[in-house]
Amino acid sequence: MKNKSILLFALVASFNLMGQDKTKEWNSNNIADMEKKAVKLNSKSLRSSIVNNYDLTYNRCEWQIDPAVYYIRGAVSFFFKPTVLGFNQIQFDLASTLTVDSVKYHSSNLTYTHPADLLQIDFASTLPMNTLDSLTIYYQGAPSGSGFGSFVQDNHNGTPVIWTLSEPFGAKDWWPCKNDLIDKSDSMDVIVTVPQGNRVASNGVLLSETPMGSNVQFHWKTKYPIASYLVAIGVTNYVYYSNYVPLSSGDSLEVLNYVYPEDLVSAQSQTPDIINVIKLYDSLTILYPFSNEKYGHCEFGWGGGMEHQTMSFVVGFGHSLIAHECAHQWFGDHVTCGSWQDIWLNESFATYMEGLSEEFLFPTTWMTWKQNAINYITSAPDGSVLCSDTNDVNRIFDGRLSYNKGAYVLHMLRWKLGDSLFFVAVRNYLNDPLLAGAYAKTPDLKAHLESVSGQNLTSFFNEWYYNQGYPSYQLVWNQNGSSVTLTVNQSQSDPSVSFFELPIPVEFIGAGHDTTIVFDHTYSGQVFTTTLNFPIDNVIFDPELHILSANNIVTGIQNYSQNNGVTVYPNPVKSNLTISMQLRNPELLSFDIFDLEGKKVMSKMESVSSGMDTKYIGIENLAKGSYLLQIKGKDVNFNQKIVKE
Ligand SMILES: [Zn+2]
Repeated sequence: MKNKSILLFALVASFNLMGQDKTKEWNSNNIADMEKKAVKLNSKSLRSSIVNNYDLTYNRCEWQIDPAVYYIRGAVSFFFKPTVLGFNQIQFDLASTLTVDSVKYHSSNLTYTHPADLLQIDFASTLPMNTLDSLTIYYQGAPSGSGFGSFVQDNHNGTPVIWTLSEPFGAKDWWPCKNDLIDKSDSMDVIVTVPQGNRVASNGVLLSETPMGSNVQFHWKTKYPIASYLVAIGVTNYVYYSNYVPLSSGDSLEVLNYVYPEDLVSAQSQTPDIINVIKLYDSLTILYPFSNEKYGHCEFGWGGGMEHQTMSFVVGFGHSLIAHECAHQWFGDHVTCGSWQDIWLNESFATYMEGLSEEFLFPTTWMTWKQNAINYITSAPDGSVLCSDTNDVNRIFDGRLSYNKGAYVLHMLRWKLGDSLFFVAVRNYLNDPLLAGAYAKTPDLKAHLESVSGQNLTSFFNEWYYNQGYPSYQLVWNQNGSSVTLTVNQSQSDPSVSFFELPIPVEFIGAGHDTTIVFDHTYSGQVFTTTLNFPIDNVIFDPELHILSANNIVTGIQNYSQNNGVTVYPNPVKSNLTISMQLRNPELLSFDIFDLEGKKVMSKMESVSSGMDTKYIGIENLAKGSYLLQIKGKDVNFNQKIVKE
């Protein structure tokens, strides 16, 4: 895993250096690769280390940026309420490479220390619990974001651009913040001053654009809760235009596109695709979560996309990429994973929603989408959806597990619950007042699925989420007349799961007939019987790919026509057996007679024509006694005991 991760990391980096191919169509696999967020992999403290003893209610961020200069100067105000008694110290995450100039509290300066990316500020006295208070941190410096992450300076068409991309741990690389997955800022102002000729893209609504000498100040505001990693700015000579989406509420949603001037024409031809995508998500789930503000795209040079709240940053406008990032507005931004271990709640949903956009908007590619996902997931035998190492960014954003396997787990939950209940549970999850605008963990989703369906999903989550691997099915079927026997065995690719329990669909096909039956498969070796009043030509396991499985084998014996069409007489017999039969296809058949010790005592081949045909076997030379007559061919396997008199 580590080697592969490093390799992927290197590939992404070299791709980035080569520049972006704007015509490349993204699929969920390379989106995952591209979404592997840049952080210092050898950083000593990636995650937030602050003491969570306050509730963050509001941020006001004032920044000065010149995209031609790799530097940030800022003043970030925090409104907060202490949540503990004896509160006399507050902590923020902030990279030590940035310099804190001062901390202002009610117009006086506070003392602070700033070791190891932790800014610790001391109050002169204890602050009362649950009482709103505020302070402002003044800081500046050249951020230490690595490679293509956190805070990036680049150029497009010879023009400088600066963008930010903080997920998962990089917000503190460029601004002081509460960089955890517990406490969102309830609202936020982002006020950025840049040289004239530049525009600033950010979260929420653009309130004003004010010239100030040779500079211009952009004031963005969001009134929705926002996690620190979803705060972003993009600064360059953007041009902009809007698309509009009719929402289920009856309102119209603005999709605001900030694009490089040289890409305006191609962007304008591609972004209208998002209209049907948002309408679809809106109808399948809940109203677009930030409908009072906007959705948007901001073009940047990083090789992929990032779902910054209300304004996804994207390298291009291909369907898969914009459908994926847009889905994150529901899954990731509105309801955010409550730990990086639960990253699938962001990425699997975004991947699956992108798949659903194929199913509903481009149905001819839906089967291919599913088969590609299965092939990718089953390209290795192990790995859990649960993120097993949250210090490894490449594991967090593992395309095979956190994106595709998780998406297929959602697809199987939909299969297990049925469409209607599955989507009701998803809507309840998004509407849950404890999760909406806040954070969720995997048991929260499980509880909603269980409460809507009445099913206990503990085994399902153990098999598919916490443990590893996938099943392979071996089916053996046998048709005798209209009676069909089906034996279903299952093996597993990883020893952590002894059996994957799922209802399995099996399709039985015969001339002019096609029947799919769902069997409740609860143990390996289970035998099912059913009745089918037509000769079976072919049996297909899981024809619509509801189940994540691979290397499945189906074998069978059809002797529908023989039992109905083969007649052997007389029996007992003295000298000549008459065998009449009715085959659907002409065949060369073997006619063998065995004695009771299994020794072949007579053998002949006969060509038998289709329709009614009759053959004769002389057995006058056999001794008296019991024998077994066996007739075999491609479609025929017939056995009958005969008695020679
Ligand atoms: Zn994503």
